[in-house]
Amino acid sequence: MSVLEILTYPNPRLREVSAPIEIFDEKLKKLTEDMIETMYAAHGIGLAAPQVGVLQRVVVIDTRPKNEDGRRYDNDEMAELEKAIPQPLVLINPKIVKGVGSTTFDEGCLSVPSFYETVERKEVIEVETYDLKGNKYSFKTDGLLAICIQHELDHLEGKLFIDRISFLKSKKIKGQIQKHGYPEKKEKSEVKK
Ligand code: ZN
Repeated sequence: MSVLEILTYPNPRLREVSAPIEIFDEKLKKLTEDMIETMYAAHGIGLAAPQVGVLQRVVVIDTRPKNEDGRRYDNDEMAELEKAIPQPLVLINPKIVKGVGSTTFDEGCLSVPSFYETVERKEVIEVETYDLKGNKYSFKTDGLLAICIQHELDHLEGKLFIDRISFLKSKKIKGQIQKHGYPEKKEKSEVKK
């Protein structure tokens, strides 16, 4: 497995619409393994293929709360439906077929490092997706997993969380990045996706 380079805003590839996967082969499996490795290495909870420059509808997620060693999990902190979904989760050609309620979360993104803003999302979602073998299935989820899936699916449409905040805040962040780049990496690990 290898750790891939994560593209950051304003890289134009992050603005493209990704293409559906048609062939479920070893190459696809390898991509998802590398993406999971890359997500863990960056202390992220989700990663979409366009973030590593691959314009395909592939997403990996792991929202389980991690301890200091990054490997043990305390599922008690998770939402009811979220707990039931095995993770790390690999989604191929995912679609949100239903969304109810609303919730907010201070979102960050590995492609917009060190910026955090409150974003409104659906609270409970139903997802239709394919697994690595090309089998279609669907599930319902909530909690951080539901928020993260909505964030990652935006990446497949070329959309970033900084497009979902107020026009003025968005303009300010984009201007700051284009003028000064990104601030130095912070020591404290925070939730990023
Ligand atoms: Zn992101």
